[in-house]
Amino acid sequence: MLNLEEDCFINCPYCLESIKVRIDLTGGQNQSLTYDCEVCCRPITLQIEIYADGNINIVTEKES
Ligand SMILES: [Zn+2]
Repeated sequence: MLNLEEDCFINCPYCLESIKVRIDLTGGQNQSLTYDCEVCCRPITLQIEIYADGNINIVTEKES
């Protein structure tokens, strides 16, 4: 059974806290979304790459 979404941990680029984000695996191999940090509430831009083998690479950026 395939997961439709997966929880991943990222580090906030502002406060460096580890926060959990839910990735929608049905949204395509390359996704970008903005997620508000649960700790400092600042917007984080996520560049998400989902590989065919199920691995997920997430790059976090401060919103410009
Ligand atoms: Zn933060």
